[in-house]
Amino acid sequence: MTVASILKEKPDRLISVKETDSLGDVANVLTRENIGAVPVLDTSGQMIGIVSERDIVRQIAREGGAVLTRPVSSMMTKTVVCCAPEDTVESTMALMTQRRFRHLPVRSNGRIIGMVSIGDVVKRRVEDAEREAESLRDYIARG
Ligand code: AMP
Repeated sequence: MTVASILKEKPDRLISVKETDSLGDVANVLTRENIGAVPVLDTSGQMIGIVSERDIVRQIAREGGAVLTRPVSSMMTKTVVCCAPEDTVESTMALMTQRRFRHLPVRSNGRIIGMVSIGDVVKRRVEDAEREAESLRDYIARG
């Protein structure tokens, strides 16, 4: 199973924020869209960073609520690790576990075509395991 098969089941719409958006704006987007991280795009649409709810919580804990008026570009993670649509679900899960983040933008031909979360990846792994168990049960029952 590949990352592409996960994307196929998600809405075909990339949620992103602009580098000039404030942290408060980003918090609103995360809440409204019920997601945990968003890519940050520059004016030409290129991804220049990623920000997750964890970044916002940490920043508020360190410096207080006034950070919510700051532009997201001042505290996003600038070196973004991506996966590709043809990557396997297993390798993507291993990458997230190893690097300790829960979100991966999916890059294809230099463009971000979607996002996968650890939740998407775990859901797909559980579905695959259940399908495999079901076909083993069928095989045994048929003798
Ligand atoms: P997360 O576990 O995804 O909420 O993110 C934990 C930390 O890793 C935050 O500082 C994020 O900005 C950062 N992060 C999340 N996803 C990525 C990614 N794909 N590449 C680089 N950093 C990331």
